[in-house]
Amino acid sequence: MMVAELIPMPASPADLFRVNKFYPFEEGGKKLMLVVENAAFAEVDEISWQLATMVAGKDRVKKSAILSELAEKFGEQEAKEAILGFEQLEIFVPHDRPRMLADAQPLAMTPLTSMVLHVSHDCNLRCGYCYADYGRYGSDPGIMTTEMAIEHCERFFSQLGGTRNLHVTFFGGEPLMNMPVVYAAHTYVKERAEKEGRKVSYGLTTNGTLLTDELAAFFSKERFTLTVSIDGPPDVNDRLRPLQEGGGSYERIMERVRATKVKAIARVTLTRRSTDVARIVRHLVEAGFREVGVSPVATGNDKFDLSDKDLEKVLAGMRVLADDFVEWAKRGEIFPYSNIKGLLEQIAAGDPRPVPCGAGTKLVAADNKGDLYACHRLVGEQQFKIGNVKDGIDGEARYALLHDMHPRGREPCNDCWARYLCGGGCHHIAWLHTNKAVAPWTMTNGFCDFLREWYKLGLYTYARMLEEAPDMLARLKGEKQPCSQPSGL
Ligand code: SF4
Ligand code: SF4
Repeated sequence: MMVAELIPMPASPADLFRVNKFYPFEEGGKKLMLVVENAAFAEVDEISWQLATMVAGKDRVKKSAILSELAEKFGEQEAKEAILGFEQLEIFVPHDRPRMLADAQPLAMTPLTSMVLHVSHDCNLRCGYCYADYGRYGSDPGIMTTEMAIEHCERFFSQLGGTRNLHVTFFGGEPLMNMPVVYAAHTYVKERAEKEGRKVSYGLTTNGTLLTDELAAFFSKERFTLTVSIDGPPDVNDRLRPLQEGGGSYERIMERVRATKVKAIARVTLTRRSTDVARIVRHLVEAGFREVGVSPVATGNDKFDLSDKDLEKVLAGMRVLADDFVEWAKRGEIFPYSNIKGLLEQIAAGDPRPVPCGAGTKLVAADNKGDLYACHRLVGEQQFKIGNVKDGIDGEARYALLHDMHPRGREPCNDCWARYLCGGGCHHIAWLHTNKAVAPWTMTNGFCDFLREWYKLGLYTYARMLEEAPDMLARLKGEKQPCSQPSGL
């Protein structure tokens, strides 16, 4: 008798739940919960919060046991509803259901959709933090020839398979220093896409100083999205983005932007000399840019890279801007700050993200020597070379890079609650932080803390939008950018 009493009754399979990983947190007085692997997200009530506390850290639980414990405190009906909510979020699943969440999914190799054509490895500015070494990418300055650009375009089309919607970005250095090649490549792409029934969107990232009326008319007619690099008001921008001949670039950029009336996106690089992100973004929105995105500099040089303290300042500014976003939304407008807008779009889409961006999956960067890289920022770095224009994409190199960088397989991402929001973070930043030749690379702890706080801010802002401006959430259906660094590229 005694012995039988000491052996616990086995739970019936129907009574046993597997508990998938979830992350409960409080922000701004709200109780919020993210399911790690499916990126499902909800604001929860007191009873669900209690349930979360009861099952946190457990792999399996007995439904009957948690039901009776919860029912004692909150009543049976409430307890049942809370448990059902956990089943709907897939925190609770039948213990014998095969695992199909992101940690167990095979690595999908999707067709390419985007090419970044490095038409100019030269630049007329001298920004001290430039990851591209003033456009030279660790090599000599040089521009892409028309022949090379067309070859890259032909190769790109030959690898598209059934892809219907394409994106081609002209990049540098400063791409306006090589407009004949931009025109030639654009003509080729446009004609071939028309013939093959594909739709192309075009982008060009520029420092803005060489814009003319004629160029602006061309970009407008051909519906290019122009991204202009500018770091804020004159006192901030001019310290960081000097002209080659000396002096700040702010007046030159803004004079060109105003004179040509381009509706450009502003892309801001944040450095330790420019951390007041709220002031910077508000200034550029007021200056008339149609959208403003910021991204932290990545140079591997302490003179520019943000320290943990700087990142805290940046985060404080981002909180102010998230408030701006909600305030604008309440009066029916979208505050054109692409970081929070993009994050809300991502949360709304609800897809877990096993990669941080399109690098090597959808995106390829093509250089003036004929090589193909996973990302435009990593041109010239052999670890990120995934093919060349003669032979096309090297499938093995591409797969190896993505496999080594998958967040489920590398520390500390494999234990991070944000892994399928973050996808493991920008490869370029991780590579610089890790300072080693071979994958996997990962961010410093301080930068990951910053990223996690940023995702919490995004989730909290989403919950606020649901409550305070629900209609505006429906309007946030942006196209996924191949680069998760804000403003695309
Ligand atoms: S926040 Fe850091 S640890 Fe977490 S998934 Fe992103 S890169 Fe990995
Ligand atoms: S997020 Fe980083 S690695 Fe990915 S495309 Fe952008 S710059 Fe490249």
